[in-house]
Formats: sequence, C-alpha cells, structure tokens
Amino acid sequence: MSARWFGLAAVALLALAWGVLPAFSITLLANIGLYTMVALGLVLLTGVGGMTSFGQAAFVGIGAYATAWVCTMPWVAAGLGLAFDSAWLPWLGLALGLLCTTALAWLLGSVTVRLSGHYLPLGTIAWGLSLYFLFGNLGFLGGHTGITGLPALQFATWQLSTARELGVLIWALVLLAIVALHNLLDSRPGRALRALKSGRIMAESMGVDTARNRLQVFVLAALLAALSGWLYAHLQRFVNPTPFNLNIGIEYLFMAVVGGVGHLWGAVLGAALITLMKHYLQDLLPALLGASGNFEVIVFGLLMLLVLQRFPQGVWPLLVQLASHWVKAPVPTVAQATPGLPQRLLPAPGSVVLQAQGISKHFGGLVANNEVGLDLKAGEIHALIGPNGAGKSTFFNIVSGVDSPSAGRVTLVGHDMSGQPARAFAQRGLGRTFQHVRLLGTRSVLENVALGAHLCGQRGWLAAMLRLDRAQEAALLAQARAQIARCGLSEHSSKPASSLALGQQRLVEIARALAGQPSVLLLDEPAAGLRHLEKQALAALLADLAAGGVAILLVEHDMEFVMNLAQRVTVLEFGQVIARGTPAQVQANPRVREAYLGGGELAATEIEAVALEGQAA
Ligand code: ADP
Ligand code: MG
Repeated sequence: MSARWFGLAAVALLALAWGVLPAFSITLLANIGLYTMVALGLVLLTGVGGMTSFGQAAFVGIGAYATAWVCTMPWVAAGLGLAFDSAWLPWLGLALGLLCTTALAWLLGSVTVRLSGHYLPLGTIAWGLSLYFLFGNLGFLGGHTGITGLPALQFATWQLSTARELGVLIWALVLLAIVALHNLLDSRPGRALRALKSGRIMAESMGVDTARNRLQVFVLAALLAALSGWLYAHLQRFVNPTPFNLNIGIEYLFMAVVGGVGHLWGAVLGAALITLMKHYLQDLLPALLGASGNFEVIVFGLLMLLVLQRFPQGVWPLLVQLASHWVKAPVPTVAQATPGLPQRLLPAPGSVVLQAQGISKHFGGLVANNEVGLDLKAGEIHALIGPNGAGKSTFFNIVSGVDSPSAGRVTLVGHDMSGQPARAFAQRGLGRTFQHVRLLGTRSVLENVALGAHLCGQRGWLAAMLRLDRAQEAALLAQARAQIARCGLSEHSSKPASSLALGQQRLVEIARALAGQPSVLLLDEPAAGLRHLEKQALAALLADLAAGGVAILLVEHDMEFVMNLAQRVTVLEFGQVIARGTPAQVQANPRVREAYLGGGELAATEIEAVALEGQAA
C-alpha cells in the first residue's frame, strides 16, 4: 500500500467513526483537531524554520477573543445589524481575529524573529505572558471570567452547534491545512524555508531573503493558531484567559516535538498522544494513588523527558520506520518535459565581471585582508592561493556579500555592491561554494541543488500551496538534475546529502552554485577530498564552464590542480597580495617561494615540484 492510500484510509476511518463514536470521544477528537492546527504551525516554525515559540497559545487567544467580542457585544451587532444577519457575526469575528493576528504577529515577529539563539524563545515567553495577562485584565474582554454566550457557527441554515457537527469543519480544515503545507514544503518556497535552519549565510547566498521568510512563517504559524482559537471559541461557546496561558503554549510545543517536529503528520500524532494521555492520566492517577491532585502533570513531565531522550526526532519517524514494510514511500513523480528556464546572458568574454578594489578587513586587531585588489574576467579561471590563514576565505566572503569590508569596494558586473546583502550578489549572477560545506544534510542531493536555482523561479507561497507552481517546479528540478549530472552525481541524486563523502559534498555545492546559472563562480577549495580521477573530472568541468564564458575564482591548495588550470594566479600572504601573474610567473617569484617554504606548508614541496617540472619542460 502506498503512503497516499494509507492516508486516505485513515481519513475514511475517521469519517466512518464520526457517526458512531460516543459524544464524549467526538469532543476529544474535535479538541485533538484544534490542537493539531496549532501544532502544524509549530512544525513549520520550529521543525522546518528552526525557530522555537512558547507563545502560540496567545495567538489562539486572539482568534478566540476576537470572535467572542464581535459576537457578544450588542453594539457591534447593532452597528452592523443593517448590513449583516447575526449569523454572519462569527465570520466577521474570524476576519477580525485573522487581521489582528497578522498585524500583531508581524509586529512581534519583526522584533523577535531577528533575535537569535535563546533570545527568540525568551521573547516568545515574554509576549505569551503579556498577552495572557492582557486578556485577563481588559474589562471589555470580561476580565478573568471571560465572555459567555457565543453563538454556534452557521452555514446558511446548517447550525454547527455540537462537537459532532463542528468537528467535521475542524477536521476538514486540519486536513486542508496539511495538504496546503505539504504542498508548500514540496516547492521552491519550501526549500527556502528549509534552508533557514542552516543559518543565514548559506540561505542568503542562494538568494533567499531569510528575514522575510522567517517573518512570513511566523505569521503563518500564528494564523493557524488564531484559526484554531476561532473554532475553539465556537465549540466551547465561551472564552476565558486560562486556555491561552504560557503552560498551554509549552504544551503545544510538546505536542509538536513529541509527534515529530519535522513532520506534518507528527503534529496530528503529537496532539492525539498528549491529549489522550493527559485525559486518561487525569482519571487514572488519582484513582491509583487514592488522593486527588494534579499528578498527571508530574507523570506527564517525566514521560516527556523519556520520549525526548529516547526519540529526539519524535514518535512519527519511528512509526514510519515500523510501517515501512507495509507502506511504500511515495515515489517522486518524474518531471514532465517542460520548456526550460530562461538562461542568464553571460557578459562578453574578457570583460571584467568582478572587481575588488582596496579591500581591507579587520577582525579586532587582526588584519585579515589588507588593501586587496583583484579583477576577474568573464571566461577566465583565476586562482587565489596562499598559506593557511592568509585571508582567502575572508576575501571570498567579502566579494560574495557574506561579510562587509572594513574598507574598499566590490563591483559586480558594473554595479557597486557596497552595503548589499549576499542575496543581491546572487541576483547579479554570483554563485559560490563554502570551504566548510554548508548543505542541508538530511535533505536529498536534488533538493540541495534545486535550492541553488531559487532565483530562477518566482512562484510564491500561495501558488505553492495551491499547486499552481508545478510547471515552474518541474523546470527548476530539471535544471538541478542537469547540474547534478554535469558534476557526475546522478546516482546520488536522491540520497541525503550527508551520506556522501566530503569530496562529493563539495561537488554537490558546485552543482548547487551552477543551478543558479552563475556568471561568476567562487569556489573555496573545491578539490579538497577528491580522488585523482575526480579532480581530473572537476578540472575538465571548470575548463568547460570557463570556455562557456563563466568567470571562475578559485581557492585551492593542490598546486598541480591550480597551476594546470588557472590562467592567472594571485598570491596572498598575511592578508596582502604578494604576487600576481600567470602560473609560470608566480612560480618563479622568489617571494612566493619563500612564503610557501617559510610557511612550512605541505604545499611548499608541491609548489617546488611543479616549479621544477615547469623548468624541466
Ligand atoms: P584562509 O582562508 O586564507 O586560510 P581566512 O580568511 O579563513 O584564511 O582567515 C584569515 C585570518 O582571519 C585568520 O587569521 C583567521 O583566524 C582570521 N579570521 C577569519 N574569520 C574571522 C572571524 N570571523 N573573526 C575573527 N577572525 C577571523
Ligand atoms: Mg580558507
């Protein structure tokens, strides 16, 4: 049975059970649906985006209070009575709730989402607390007693007044959300979201606006929470601040984490497990212990520790593994032949595409780059060499926008790039790899490479959720596959990137850079870890790219590789250019030879050998 059929069977089972289960179980199921909705947001926010929030309960509260307020304030009804039938009030409440949530999440998000490390979780605790107390202290929201007398939801003449009726809507929305989020994650914007977790530098270098994506996912998670709150209010028909306090916020996070925070179905599983466990422990423990008290909280905490310790990825991946005998993972559908993506026009061969003028970079007292200047021309391979610590990677980071120089200017295809972020460099056609490989280790090679094509597409979140992006997605994947093939990685395409040898992971990074159709390619030690034949294949690929008009700047320690491949070489030592010229000129340069010999590097003997070979020839 395939996973899709399994999912459909589960939904069918739920639908069948809906008619026959006792009211009490239905209420429990409806609640599980409500929790799932919030946990889904956390899967996206925490599991995919890498941001931890303890404050989701507060957004549930906004959704609930907005509709409670609209539905029960006589003057709202009166004021709108002319235009609205009172059956419309809950829908007006929904609109208000979503609007307030968007505004508030945007505001809170733009402050807290920028915070890194432990500041973000702390920030979410702070707003979770303050919103909770706000609900309790605002007179027009009924203070700590809350608001009672909410109407049932109504579709035309169909009243959703019981859990059995409203539960259908709740689960329909949960399933819709799962489908939409699943589609989102399996798309160009989804890849960008996944890249957030690996940090700002790599994602921005691929052209992803990380700040905006973080904010967007934060708002989306908040909206799911608010939707849950709206449904909750009309299920309970009253609201008070208690279900929106920080404890519950923590519980939502537990649900997502216990279920499996990286998986959408983990949200369903986590919500179900925790709701059921809490429910049964609540009855069971006092009976067992013969005393009344909230023992479940203690047992619950211990269980949680156990689960997190034993299954840090959550329970869902475990189930998937157990079921793998019977349930086949979905086979990715192979893209249809589509019209390819528009190709970037490369600058005329020989024209200067990247120019660095007087680049200096200070780290405290250390001068990592000292007035480094370099021109890179279309169609040339230019090597940047020098002993370890000479400042090569620092220079790379500056000319790719990852770091800003202390002084100096970078010009990319005629544009002054001062003050621009790395994604602006990517937009202008710069592709790069990293000395310390930056891949999404658990994702497939194909997905990693397709991220490199981010800027070749433009379909956004909504198109992805509604699957209106399929033609473009097929074209992006085709482009990624072509580059994977070009780098000789086709057989590894569907393997997780981290399962490859380090040298091959470097090739994946090259394929990823190529997927962005670069006109300038910066490679930081691409041949490190490659075997002899692989190095030859890489050299042939780079020569081929340069012949096609791409400008390549290359840092590499393998002198034989560099000297045979590069047309020009620039040598750095202690952050300063000490020589530049053709490989032969550089090898003959006494300062270079001294730098290498003086540095006591392995490379010293290599440069010797190559130089001697050159003389003999
Ligand atoms: P290379 O790539 O040539 O081996 P790097 O550019 O990595 O050299 O480093 C040049 C010098 O700058 C080294 O002394 C290194 O310790 C220092 N350096 C690099 N990055 C930083 C940083 N972020 N903060 C402080 N010092 C740094
Ligand atoms: Mg380096």
